[in-house]
Amino acid sequence: MSKNAIGVMGGSFNPIHKGHISAARYAQKTLNLSKVFFIPAGIPPHKALPEGSPSALQRLEMTKIAVRELPFAEVLDIEIKRHGKSYTIDTIYELKKRYADTDIYFIMGTDMFLSFEKWYRADELSRLIKIAVVRRRGQETEKIREKTYEYQKELSADVIIIDSPVLEISSTEIREQLRLGKGEEWLPGDVLTYIERNKLYF
Ligand code: ATP
Ligand code: MG
Repeated sequence: MSKNAIGVMGGSFNPIHKGHISAARYAQKTLNLSKVFFIPAGIPPHKALPEGSPSALQRLEMTKIAVRELPFAEVLDIEIKRHGKSYTIDTIYELKKRYADTDIYFIMGTDMFLSFEKWYRADELSRLIKIAVVRRRGQETEKIREKTYEYQKELSADVIIIDSPVLEISSTEIREQLRLGKGEEWLPGDVLTYIERNKLYF
């Protein structure tokens, strides 16, 4: 039997959208993950949340609502509960304690992947996880190839590229669209309802 493997999706989820859900589905299937953990960041280290963003608890709530449709997914509040910035490496050490002898795939989009070397303690982190990059076939092929080579060489990283029908959308674009009364189609229905009820992003 092959080794147990789990997936981690980290991010601001401000808000969570269908692109995140679809990425998790593809990674789960391709890598045969027994579980995928969605872990919303408390204070994201790489970028401040824009003015007027929902609270951490509201981002957590939206994430929980969104993953109801994924039987293999679970939302963890460990980064939101932790004080200070949310560093992935702290989260991975916590998961390692709970899941011994398990491969941890950190699932990420191409934007996150291309800046991975700037993550906090990237070299140490890359020894603890496997990097699963979800991209659309052909998307930024050359840049991804270069970065993969660089990370393998300099960080001994274990990188796997998953070609999938990536949805071309980001939370930033969705927030802009919602302000203009558009963009609903990118959100799981119950997340949209939550956003409307709580008057977020308008
Ligand atoms: P932002 O607009 O701030 O970049 P985002 O949509 O990328 O927001 P995050 O919460 O920052 O959302 O992303 C969490 C993870 O999901 C990251 O690894 C990111 O690369 C990935 N991701 C974001 N959008 C997509 C998408 N459409 N398809 C696949 N992965 C995605
Ligand atoms: Mg992004």
